[in-house]
Amino acid sequence: MYKINENYLKLQGSYLFSNIAKKVALFKEANPDKDVISLGIGDVTQPLAPAVIKALHKAVDEMAQAETFRGYAPDLGYEFLRSAIRDNDYKARGVDIDLDEIFISDGAKSDSGNIGDIFAENNRIAVCDPVYPVYVDTNVMAGRTGEYIAEKESWSNVIYMPCTKGNNFAPQIPKETPDIIYLCFPNNPTGSTITKSQLQEWVDYANKVGAVIIYDAAYEAYISEENVPHSIYECDGAKTCAIELRSFSKNAGFTGTRLGFTVVPKELESNGTKLNALWARRHGTKFNGAPYIIQRAGEAVYSEDGKAQTKQQVAYYMNNAKIIIEGLKSAGFSVSGGVNAPYVWLETPEGMTSWDFFDYLLNNANIVGTPGSGFGPSGEGYFRLTAFGTHENTLKAIDRIKAL
Ligand code: PLP
Repeated sequence: MYKINENYLKLQGSYLFSNIAKKVALFKEANPDKDVISLGIGDVTQPLAPAVIKALHKAVDEMAQAETFRGYAPDLGYEFLRSAIRDNDYKARGVDIDLDEIFISDGAKSDSGNIGDIFAENNRIAVCDPVYPVYVDTNVMAGRTGEYIAEKESWSNVIYMPCTKGNNFAPQIPKETPDIIYLCFPNNPTGSTITKSQLQEWVDYANKVGAVIIYDAAYEAYISEENVPHSIYECDGAKTCAIELRSFSKNAGFTGTRLGFTVVPKELESNGTKLNALWARRHGTKFNGAPYIIQRAGEAVYSEDGKAQTKQQVAYYMNNAKIIIEGLKSAGFSVSGGVNAPYVWLETPEGMTSWDFFDYLLNNANIVGTPGSGFGPSGEGYFRLTAFGTHENTLKAIDRIKAL
């Protein structure tokens, strides 16, 4: 009789956003006349930039002609896209990354889960708390997290690094030594960042203890402050201890189109084995790259028009973030984030848990947000609103919150 991966049975309920979707569906069914505004799920609302659409059309036409038709993409991704990434995301910031250190994928979500395939089961992970739930969930699936402790809403073998108002939402070096450290800056859900010198401390620490950092920079396009690094490789010594995840979802609206990449430096090794070679093998076997057409669309993001147009989209969302921050502040909420990230993090009113506030906002203002506790135990008492709505809906939502 075949056996299943029993680690999946340990997963707690369904994924946060499925729970939210269920609650919202029930509410809409009971209140069909209500205009529900979603500032909840981290999905974009602006259409793909014209430069991207143009590149997509061109690539589709190429696929229709025998001379320009493309079959399987190269394992690591097409060189035209990897060169654009190397030059624009790294060289332009004074960082040297080789083409064979860049692996094109179908997004940072897949990569953040799949990267675990190259690590042994008995590694101990450390995560920012709260954080994007995929890191913990995929480690549960891989059997690395130990047992779930219901009273603490946490896993016995995970090192949680609380990020709360008390430490300005920046994790501190943990007392216990982890093997794999997940860092996500700008952070989802808190919208917080750390400075280059703070990140350098993490790099120095990881090199000292022999840990690997998985650095999720999916929101780097939203960074507005000078002292916040866009890549972990801006720090000295990061190539011997860090893998970086990137996405085209939030900077260019590819959430439905799917495109991302991972950087695995050749200097990175464990007991003489190069992680770059392992990941190349994994990538070549369990392919999770992207189609030619989509890689051409990604290349267009780096064209002059593409850069200008996607920058405008980021500015559009950040204007929403400003509206949310100012509106919430004037309504008496304590807020953070929203300056280098499309996420605004607010403290729930006295006596209300994150889920209480979710229900309160849905029932009384017909607004969908995300309960902080869904991102980790230290997210309790907080709530996330995203700037990814339309300008009109953002204004409407804030007016409703002010009227509560
Ligand atoms: N990483 C973080 C921190 C995210 O918040 C998200 C999506 O919300 C992703 C990765 C997913 O990125 P992608 O759409 O490229 O899979």
